[in-house]
Amino acid sequence: MKPAPFTYFAPHSLDEAVSLLGQYGSDAKPLAGGQSLVPLMNFRLAKPRCLVDLNRIPDLAYIRREDGTLAVGAMTRQFEAEQSDLVRAAVPLLVEALKLVGHPTIRHRGTVGGSIAHADPAAELPAAAAALGAELVIRSGRGSRTMPAENFFVGPFTTALAPDELLTEVRFPVPAPGTGYAFLELCRRHGDFAIVGVAALVRLAADGTIERASVVLCGAGPTPVRARQAEAALQGAAPTEDRFREAGELAAQEAQPSSDIHASAEYRRRVAAVLVRRALLAAAERARERR
Ligand code: FAD
Repeated sequence: MKPAPFTYFAPHSLDEAVSLLGQYGSDAKPLAGGQSLVPLMNFRLAKPRCLVDLNRIPDLAYIRREDGTLAVGAMTRQFEAEQSDLVRAAVPLLVEALKLVGHPTIRHRGTVGGSIAHADPAAELPAAAAALGAELVIRSGRGSRTMPAENFFVGPFTTALAPDELLTEVRFPVPAPGTGYAFLELCRRHGDFAIVGVAALVRLAADGTIERASVVLCGAGPTPVRARQAEAALQGAAPTEDRFREAGELAAQEAQPSSDIHASAEYRRRVAAVLVRRALLAAAERARERR
């Protein structure tokens, strides 16, 4: 199918893009890699009256390490972030998550900011951003603001962005030394969206107990789901398989999955319990290696 008619703008600066969004409000949509928006438009599930193409704005694509933060411009291609030595050294969980996003051809066009702004509940990057405690930088004609990734996702494909706002940067805190990580998911075929996925981080204290754990699920609710009870139960505990099994059961209870053509809610809960246990085991192993 072909999209409904729309007006196309190709601004060359962030100020110009923000001004167009301010002018057209909810009639406009930013176009990033187009890997989600263009199919939606072709199926006429999205009918924006105008597109503001971000692809000619050079200031939005970069990866910088600034003190304890890795700053990634919203228009950075997913493949570029996945291949970046800076990202691998600072936030390896992100690389692990990126490798699970579709296929390389999709990641060559798809952007880090586009995936987060799209807020697909099954997507990997929103879950990774929430697990890492990322901060999102948001711009509009009214100024700039930042927001924790965790508060950004308000429902399926729905975020806290106002129609005139652009996501410009994702700031990932660099995890402390001794932090292990893992991103695991179950999908029908490699490259498919996750039926359920989990981003896990484990930091070990000097005595070998868990100082901090972070567990966020995707494909298990309307937004990325932080498993707070599982995280609380792990704090100060020994990193044993039994503890991680209990955490998996807690996380499965905290999940809010629904049934669809891919899997039942009950199946998703079972998978969540298993993946959380395995991801925590892998993260704890890496935490030991990274101490
Ligand atoms: P677009 O498609 O251009 O935009 C998506 C939405 O975000 C639009 O509403 C747009 O207006 C908005 N937007 C984009 N950038 C901004 C911004 N800076 N500020 C405000 N709003 C913005 N994704 C996964 O996570 N996991 C997968 O397994 C996966 N598999 C895929 C398989 C296929 C075959 C395809 C085609 C896509 C798949 N994707 C998957 C989606 C892919 O990751 C997309 O790249 C991503 O969802 C959207 O990024 P984009 O840059 O293409 O954004």
